Parts: sequence; structure tokens; C-alpha cells
Amino acid sequence: MDATAPTLAILASALKIEHIADQSMQRAADNALRHLAADPVYDFDGSELRILSESEAGAGVWVVTDGVGCTCKGGKHPMCKHRALFRLLLAREVLLDPLYVRTRIIEQVLPANYGEPPIDEDRIPAFGEPAAGFPLNLPDDGW
Ligand SMILES: [Zn+2]
Repeated sequence: MDATAPTLAILASALKIEHIADQSMQRAADNALRHLAADPVYDFDGSELRILSESEAGAGVWVVTDGVGCTCKGGKHPMCKHRALFRLLLAREVLLDPLYVRTRIIEQVLPANYGEPPIDEDRIPAFGEPAAGFPLNLPDDGW
């Protein structure tokens, strides 16, 4: 048995309590623990979970999630076991090494495959264009 399994089981219970009315989260948390008990091959770096697909492991299919979206077949559903497992692993990592997690969050400009391209902080704005991160119209409050 993996030494971290009891920690993850307790975190799964906490996840289920936090989402007590969400049946998809209840199911996903249980399935995440069941999948973890099968000792899957995975890599978690604090911002992304890559895990060998349970149903397509023989074909070498990897599932990738950033906790928000997921490449699995259930990725379109509100929740899946991979995203639940991501949350459990992230919560455990926060307990073990919050500085590592903070560093990974700072390094991650956007969740994988989501949103607009990152703002180039070093780009010099054109004349009249606000610098990155500054609002276009500042309130006229005397300052
Ligand atoms: Zn998934």
C-alpha cells in the first residue's frame, strides 16, 4: 500500500464534504481513490497531472488534466476522476510543500490549453496604449 493512500483518502472525504450536494464530485472522488488503488503510472508536477489511462493503458494513452479540463472521454462532464485526483494530489502537495506549489502556480501563466495567450510583460506598449496590467482609464480621484 502506498504510504500516501491514507492521506489521499482523508482528502477525498474532505473534497466530498466540500461538494456534498454535487453527485458528480462524489462519484469522481470515489473513482479517483479506486483508480489510485490500482497503482497507476502518473506524473504530477503541481500544475498538471499526467496519468496513464485506466481503460486504454495497453494502447499507451495518457490522460492530462490541469484540474479544470481533462483530455479523458469524460472531460466534457462537470467532473471526472482525473480532475478529482488532481485536486487530491494538489491538496497533499500544499500540506507537504506550499512553497513548491506557489512556485509552480507563479510559473504557470495559464491553465493548459485555456484562455488568451499570456501578456508579454516585457513588450513596450505603443504610444497611448496602457502598459500591461494597468487599467486604461484610471479614476480621477485627485491622484
Ligand atoms: Zn478525466
